[in-house]
Amino acid sequence: MSNIPFNVPPCVGDEIDYIRQAIDAHKICGDGAFTKKCQSWMEDRFRAQKVLLTTSGTTALDMALLLCDLQPGDEVILPSYTFSSTATAAVMVGAKLIFVDIRPDTMNIDETKIEAAITEKTKVIIVMHYAGVACEMDRIMEIARRNGLLVVEDAAQGVMSSYKGKALGTIGDFGCFSFHETKNYSMGEGGAILINTPAFNDRAEILREKGTNRSRFFRGQVDKYTWVDKGDSFLPSELNAAYLWAQLCQADVITEDRMKTWNEYRESFRSLAETQRIDLQVIPSYCVHNAHMFYIKLRNLEERTAYIDWMKGRKISCVFHYVPLHSSPAGLRFGRFFGEDSYTTAESDRLVRLPLYYGMKQNERETVINNTREFFERETE
Ligand SMILES: *Cc1c(COP(=O)(O)O)cnc(C)c1O
Repeated sequence: MSNIPFNVPPCVGDEIDYIRQAIDAHKICGDGAFTKKCQSWMEDRFRAQKVLLTTSGTTALDMALLLCDLQPGDEVILPSYTFSSTATAAVMVGAKLIFVDIRPDTMNIDETKIEAAITEKTKVIIVMHYAGVACEMDRIMEIARRNGLLVVEDAAQGVMSSYKGKALGTIGDFGCFSFHETKNYSMGEGGAILINTPAFNDRAEILREKGTNRSRFFRGQVDKYTWVDKGDSFLPSELNAAYLWAQLCQADVITEDRMKTWNEYRESFRSLAETQRIDLQVIPSYCVHNAHMFYIKLRNLEERTAYIDWMKGRKISCVFHYVPLHSSPAGLRFGRFFGEDSYTTAESDRLVRLPLYYGMKQNERETVINNTREFFERETE
């Protein structure tokens, strides 16, 4: 019987050659040739004003929130149905978290509930594009601009996805990518920040280089480099960038491969959705997604637990996702939920993610599909 993991870290084969090149070039710290190649590739491909590699999606978010320059007591609006990193970035700069409910169709922040949560202390809206499917960015940007707020896109799952022709991560003021091993395109640990307004370029480079103007020095724009601002070390090693370069060169191949599994799941579960045994994820017509995730929603928590156990008994790893942040110990300490929790908790209780990774084999897909079907057939007896 096959053992089907939930995720397998992507490897296209050229990674080791590029890593060796970095070693042979005697350049393994950050900001060498591979980092530059990755950044330029993303700037071209996503039509991004400026992209900087970071050590993780989490530190990309940290950088974005540092650039937002919050004052103590300022408020940040975000969904509760997200990964902790979306929230910790805001907590690290002293912000109070205001959680807003999600839409049940995409599991993204409900754009119609944002405006009521805005106070004179609100400075930033952080949106998270769940499963690489875009939030309603036109509406969100309009609300932000009218209220003088900055927008940070947690596009950790949204690399290679788009909204009305624009790459995710390029629509708000800042976009944050993750290249963790669980993401579509990886460097082990790593990420990138997209800076969509040139006015933030200089400060971003300074924050990333331990508060120094080292980048300007290397470009010959200043004649010595010195400590000028707060900062941290947000730049990843060339070894990781070399791994990512191999992945970016094959990004379309990786996406297509994942899409094959996604489409096959979708097609196979259509009848379960039509008979209302499950709900499938909704992809709005103007969103192109990247097959980051395939999830189904069962009737309730009990049925979901039974399904996960059923699959586990057949050595197939299916996993639930976020426990809403507002009900977690840290969420209670650092934030509050605005308005009613109509969908966040109820929908997260029903959701389960199916195995999906680059290089998934046909027989593996079929095993997942057949065992899922058997679960629902058993239930009707
Ligand atoms: C993966 C992920 C992150 C964190 O990325 P890391 O690279 O693991 O730090 C942040 N937000 C979301 C929504 C994610 O899925």
